[in-house]
Amino acid sequence: MWWPSVPMVRTLTKLALSLAFTLAQGHAAALTVFACEPEWAALTQTLLPSAKVYSATHHLQDPHHIEARPSLIAQLRNADMAVCTGAELEAGWLPMLQAKASNPKIQNGQPGMFYAADHVSLVHPFKGTVTPFSGDVHVLGNPHLHADPRRLLAVAKVLALRLAAIAPAEKGRIDRQLQQFETTLSDKIQAWEQLAKPLRGRSVVTQHANFAYLWLWLGLNPVADLEPKPGVPPTPAHLARTLAQSRTAPPMAIVIAQHHDPRPAQWLSGQLGTPQKMVVLPATVTSDGPDALLAWFDLMVNRLVQVAP
Ligand SMILES: [Zn+2]
Repeated sequence: MWWPSVPMVRTLTKLALSLAFTLAQGHAAALTVFACEPEWAALTQTLLPSAKVYSATHHLQDPHHIEARPSLIAQLRNADMAVCTGAELEAGWLPMLQAKASNPKIQNGQPGMFYAADHVSLVHPFKGTVTPFSGDVHVLGNPHLHADPRRLLAVAKVLALRLAAIAPAEKGRIDRQLQQFETTLSDKIQAWEQLAKPLRGRSVVTQHANFAYLWLWLGLNPVADLEPKPGVPPTPAHLARTLAQSRTAPPMAIVIAQHHDPRPAQWLSGQLGTPQKMVVLPATVTSDGPDALLAWFDLMVNRLVQVAP
């Protein structure tokens, strides 16, 4: 009978230990990320495919108003990092989640708490006095910045640095993923801009400021908002005014987000006799695949070009 020699046992033990250590390291490297919105989940996944990413909201929800459910608290408690929009978009629910999760890694000011809005310029800050009747005004500027692919790319660069700082073992992979994303997105931006040329200078009636950055990027002109005040649902009087205005200067399209109640936009387009000009766009990615962000912009630009005469 053959027995391993003592040195061989030592070698085998060492090998087993080093394998266990490698596995443990591999396990520790799977970064757990809590994303407040699906676009940041998609971006994180693009930059670090091995990350375990959880999105607190989906495309049919309004990210201004989320219930701080126990399941969200549990997810945030276990996260190594949180990636959110900031600029007060999540002011109604994220601070409560942070407090209840009592996870030191994702408190404000920690490397694990990343706010996209801190890293790009924001448009249209609300000027004036905020009262309880002001609605969901964006005092720090419009936080729906992910609808501009150029700002998205700027956020991707900073997020890549942050991810690499938190998961240094993944730095090489993150850098390669960023480089690939930058190349693909830059080419796509050029193609979308070319495709969207007929949209330049055209007017749209919108609902809320979800797509303000998209209009700015593509040169569309938002002439009226179905909301009388930000975050306040359309009222009959306000809709009547919008109808009168739209009869005088017919818009190219009436564009709402998928999470909005479609009835006011349906009513307006029906009154104008142009039901085909009502466009419903998801306000964020609708899938979590690696190309979710590109697919979302593809869909938006193509839908708008379809209704351009
Ligand atoms: Zn908003």
